[in-house]
Amino acid sequence: MLRYIDAHCHLQNLSDLKQVFKSASTVGVCGFVCNATSPDDWNDVLKLTQTNNNVFGCIGVHPWYVNNLPVDWLNNLRKLLQNNQSLMIGEIGLDKKGPDILAQEDVFISQMQLAYEMHKVVHIHCVGAWERLVKILKDYPVKTVLHGFSGSAEILKRLLLSLSDVYFSFSSSVLDDRRRRLIDAIRQAPIDKILVESDEKSPNVIVDVANKISEIKSIASDKMADTIYNNTLRFLNNG
Ligand SMILES: [Zn+2]
Repeated sequence: MLRYIDAHCHLQNLSDLKQVFKSASTVGVCGFVCNATSPDDWNDVLKLTQTNNNVFGCIGVHPWYVNNLPVDWLNNLRKLLQNNQSLMIGEIGLDKKGPDILAQEDVFISQMQLAYEMHKVVHIHCVGAWERLVKILKDYPVKTVLHGFSGSAEILKRLLLSLSDVYFSFSSSVLDDRRRRLIDAIRQAPIDKILVESDEKSPNVIVDVANKISEIKSIASDKMADTIYNNTLRFLNNG
């Protein structure tokens, strides 16, 4: 059976995880990169990584939740990362639909500094703030996963040129044939930089996402699935 790893999900928000894992294993989904969104769910994510050896955790502050953070949030983040070496940082980023962009930028930069200092992989959420994002990512060169990538082919090319180690993770949005811009971006994406994710959906959906990408790129679906699997292992192993 082909194997898949979900490069971005939020298992802490799903109910009946036992059933989720069981169902995922029947379609070959055997690993999960689980992202926190605020200090409120850091410990839930950490616990999931400690109780399941196929769950890889990321903790951080999502751009929607940058307001009303506890004063010691950054110190606590640093401590948790120091005490749990396998944790990555995510999901963090910038979102033009989120709260005050300067507040977002402040929280994002603090987390990028930490990632750079600690050599951590970062999982990025970016909606409509590509200029600012590229500028900040260039200042803190670390291994980067752009989750739910929704930028154009042009932005994808720019990111590849400006960042030395970047992956593009695609969600079930690719199943919508009206998303022409996204489909164009996938056409331009080097196959060794592609990941697949469920985000808020059932992890099983990543099989369909991988198949759709193989169709868009005219590559045999088993070869595409293998490549995506190995891409995911690559960023997890060198984390
Ligand atoms: Zn997410």
